Amino acid sequence: MLVVWMMSTTSIAATRIEVDRLSDNLALGQYVDTVRLERDDSGLTDYVRNADFVAGEYEALNFGYTQQRVWLKFELSNASDHDIERILNIRYPLIDRLYLYNDSTTTPLYTLGRFYANEFDQALHIPASYFVMPLVIKAHSTETYYLSVDSDNSIALPIYLTTTPALERQAFQYAVNIVFYFGLVVTNILFAFFMTLLLRDREQLYYSLFMVSYHFLFFAVLEGMPHTLFGIDSLFISRDIIPYILSISMTIFTVFAASYLKLRKYAPKAYKMAKALTGIMLLSLVLCFILPSYYAIKLTTLTSILVGVFYASVVSNFILRGRPGVRSFLLAWGTGVAGAIVYGMKVWNLVPVNFITSYGWHIGTLIEAAVFSSMMAYRAARDRKERLEFLHQLNKKERDLRHTQERLLESESAAKADLELQVKQRTRDLSNILAQLETENRSLAELSINDGLTKVRNRRYFNDIFPQMWSDAIADQTPISVILLDIDHFKKVNDDYGHISGDDCLVKVAGIMRQSVNHPIDVVCRYGGEEFVIILPDTTQQQAFALAENMRKNIANTIISNNERAFRVTSSFGVGGLIPTEEIAPEDLIAQCDAALYTSKRNGRNRVTVADDIATSGKAEAADFTKL
Ligand code: GH3
Ligand code: MG
Ligand code: MG
Repeated sequence: MLVVWMMSTTSIAATRIEVDRLSDNLALGQYVDTVRLERDDSGLTDYVRNADFVAGEYEALNFGYTQQRVWLKFELSNASDHDIERILNIRYPLIDRLYLYNDSTTTPLYTLGRFYANEFDQALHIPASYFVMPLVIKAHSTETYYLSVDSDNSIALPIYLTTTPALERQAFQYAVNIVFYFGLVVTNILFAFFMTLLLRDREQLYYSLFMVSYHFLFFAVLEGMPHTLFGIDSLFISRDIIPYILSISMTIFTVFAASYLKLRKYAPKAYKMAKALTGIMLLSLVLCFILPSYYAIKLTTLTSILVGVFYASVVSNFILRGRPGVRSFLLAWGTGVAGAIVYGMKVWNLVPVNFITSYGWHIGTLIEAAVFSSMMAYRAARDRKERLEFLHQLNKKERDLRHTQERLLESESAAKADLELQVKQRTRDLSNILAQLETENRSLAELSINDGLTKVRNRRYFNDIFPQMWSDAIADQTPISVILLDIDHFKKVNDDYGHISGDDCLVKVAGIMRQSVNHPIDVVCRYGGEEFVIILPDTTQQQAFALAENMRKNIANTIISNNERAFRVTSSFGVGGLIPTEEIAPEDLIAQCDAALYTSKRNGRNRVTVADDIATSGKAEAADFTKL
């Protein structure tokens, strides 16, 4: 539409160009008439001559993508007396076919373009991919020229009429700019690959590949470098490769930008769309193999714009949401895009041609590369710092943890030691208590069977043991004897010498009895008051009598003394013994002994009386013992 608008507003007739009055470098854009006609091979015909040429208005002529052939018409006059040499040059390499005619001939003066690159050796060796056509304008002559151009790329025609030295200067200047551009690009690429290797980072790799494909290869082809630098004249390398390179580089860019903006994390939907976009780019790459180059170029231009629109919307969305990384992305990518737009505006004659507009795209991509490279280096450094800090904190935490663990272990072992000590103490206490308890139990048991004063067995013990011993004697058919003892006039002892002396007396008498019995199984018991009983198993009545007699003498001979006075006591005995049978009760023997004792008392005391014939006398006649 812009082209139509541009064309429709130009209707001034072409000005005659007076070559003899020109500067050494004239842009012809404003002095030529242009028309677009169908492509055919018939060359300069009357049909062309009579076409509706319109006057060019701008310094740089642009026609965009067109499958028509662009015709230019201009008039050169030389009013001077000498011939003038000038070089007609077009400073745009993406032209497929270019023919220059003058009005008087039908065969072209020059046949140039990528299509014929291998057929012509340029007369002028200049370090730029310019189409150069040396012309000689004869003295006092006017000549009309027709230039026809077609291309599958968008057609721009920066056409100039220049002297040889001026063109060489111009071309050199261009070469310097381009070398400067590619020098910086190569530096950036090397840096990016270096960073890729150093960090083993996928994003860096994407960016490196993007720069190689876009900043380097794409621009190199756009600048006609394969031909200029290496003399490569293949139409594929100089033209058809463009859509392939563009779709590959845009695919890589889509992937790189998705990674740089962390779409997967922050915008999963956009991430999916970026994936789809990558698929579309790859599809368009496949289509490049099938489609004719004109459509392939248009398709990839369209898909590139799609990528641009997609990321523009992602970026604006990210800015609204304040996502990290979007500002640097906008700065870098935006500068690149802005450069491309400025370049486009120049192409569409919306801005004047100058250094900035001519090299806007280059400058933009360089700034883009610089920002992306430094941002990624900055990010890598920041990541490293964060990782280090994280590691440091991890270390610190681990150290703290180990400290805590050590302290815990220490306190645990201390607690264990303490516990062990306590357990030991408690065990000792317990065993002490148990020992105490045992002693007390033992003494309790002792107390329960012994007489507290005289330390001989007590009446209870006697009651328990005597029937057992009696049974044993029955079972073994061995004799068993009993001695009953009563201290004489003991009441008087108490009265005369006091109760304590009485107790002493009891203890002494009991001691004598204990010493007098021969066998350990003999049992001495306090029967009550000052009465004692002695059980003598396996002892006959005669043996018991002898023992009692011995005891009687011993007691009588013993002097009992208290602090003030000494005295003696005597005692009376009743002795009985037999081989027991089931028919005789143990109490019968005791009763007979008691009777015998009573007899001793009655007969004057200090004597032993034997209870005879217990078995025959029986219980009923116990009273008869008194006679004895
Ligand atoms: P006999 O010769 O007839 O046996 O005269 P006796 O005085 O010994 O007779 P009796 O049975 O009347 O008196 C016993 C006395 O023994 C009465 C009591 O005061 C005394 N007696 C009993 N048990 C104890 C004791 O454990 N300690 C003291 N000191 N005296 C006791
Ligand atoms: Mg008595
Ligand atoms: Mg007595």
